[in-house]
Amino acid sequence: MKILLCFGTRPEAIKMAPVFHKLKDKGFEVKICVTAQHREMLDQVLLFFEIKPDYDLNLMKSDQTLNGLSASILEGIDSVLVAEKPDLILVHGDTTTSSMVALAGFNRNINVGHIEAGLRTYNKTAPFPEEINRQITSRLADLHFTPTLQASQNLINEGVLKETIFQTGNTVIDALFWTLKKIEKPDFDFSEIKILKEKIDQNKKIILVTGHRRENFGTGFQNICEAILQLAKREDVQIVYPVHLNPNVKKIVEEKLSRNKNILLVNPVSYPAFVWLMQQSFLIMTDSGGIQEEAPSLGKPVIVTRTVSERPEGVIAGYSKLVGHNQEMIIESVIDLIENFKGFENIANPYGNGDASEQIVNALLK
Ligand code: UDP
Repeated sequence: MKILLCFGTRPEAIKMAPVFHKLKDKGFEVKICVTAQHREMLDQVLLFFEIKPDYDLNLMKSDQTLNGLSASILEGIDSVLVAEKPDLILVHGDTTTSSMVALAGFNRNINVGHIEAGLRTYNKTAPFPEEINRQITSRLADLHFTPTLQASQNLINEGVLKETIFQTGNTVIDALFWTLKKIEKPDFDFSEIKILKEKIDQNKKIILVTGHRRENFGTGFQNICEAILQLAKREDVQIVYPVHLNPNVKKIVEEKLSRNKNILLVNPVSYPAFVWLMQQSFLIMTDSGGIQEEAPSLGKPVIVTRTVSERPEGVIAGYSKLVGHNQEMIIESVIDLIENFKGFENIANPYGNGDASEQIVNALLK
């Protein structure tokens, strides 16, 4: 069976890497096409996970609209489908790449498998492109690999056939465990981590921050930065913030936070360096989906700078807390953790245990 994996962003690449390697191990013919919706951040991941794409559509442009990007993906992927004639396309998650590649596959009568299927907020008003991307992909896909029971249930409620749903866990946990093993090895290149180590005061409680969501552009990021400035006044904390390259994020964050000695702003770091940072942190403040999934495996609490999450499992289990971009809520929640957090008793991760890619490949073998 010839399988084409298509993805374009950093988180998709992290979550597809274990699937790619597992498919190769089991003898599938695998081709990779990247749209490069995120250029530099995608390349960092490809390098670390030793993935060389067969096709690189290189579609990232400055000031790109979602419609412009969608059109370019549809057109770009079509020639790859014609050239490769895969038996199955695998897409991931909720990006414009996932929904448009699934549509291109459907139009060419090629089966589509959706990894990390079934996540929902049911809020599809702008600016939530992720939700509509997920829903479009679910309507088009033939196979649905879900991370949790809730995700499977969402699909069943929408009328997706049970026989096409495979609950596998999330492949990000596979990637995380693989990386933890790799950074323990003596031959691992620690240069990036060494530089970070020199800049961080590890005697303080590290608050690791990231953010990239469209719903927080403008006022959201302004408020989050204000809250961070207040928290940075505490002597016992150090803020470490790898800033997303999207200009809508980078501009505000750098303007507001770059002159504070207790706040370390850095460019996005490689995946192993980020995993190391998560390990060193006391808590993580983020709007990221992937980080909400990874943090429970590392026993780290997450303050989620969103009012809604398509990942309710972590919130219900107490690993993460939704605070939106309300300054008081953010500050209160962080201080509460600093003063009262004693660690998680049960750190079973609701998003998986590291064998999701194996389960996906087994389902395909059947
Ligand atoms: N990540 C990384 N470097 C960084 C920040 C994050 O490798 O500087 C990883 C993180 O561990 C997680 C993924 O990127 O696996 C999350 O990506 P992002 O937050 O951009 O997207 P989302 O998960 O919200 O789709």
